[in-house]
Amino acid sequence: MGRRIRPDSARRRQLHRRLRDLEADLEECSRHLVQLENTLRHIVRTTDDVTIGGPCRCGQSLLILSNQSLYCPQCSYRRTV
Ligand SMILES: [Zn+2]
Repeated sequence: MGRRIRPDSARRRQLHRRLRDLEADLEECSRHLVQLENTLRHIVRTTDDVTIGGPCRCGQSLLILSNQSLYCPQCSYRRTV
């Protein structure tokens, strides 16, 4: 009688594989986020009159403060400050 893999352990292995993939994706995303943050910080530092604010209420971008105007590059939000 050959050894059969019980459905339970097959499922568990699949779950482990999926978890490993997710961990790898997460690491990749974190690395990418750090790269973007570093790049953005550099751009802000070397560009006159540009400041990055908190997240816009649309949730798609951080707000940009430039020329006394606070705006979101993703939605139509804009206000003078
Ligand atoms: Zn927005």
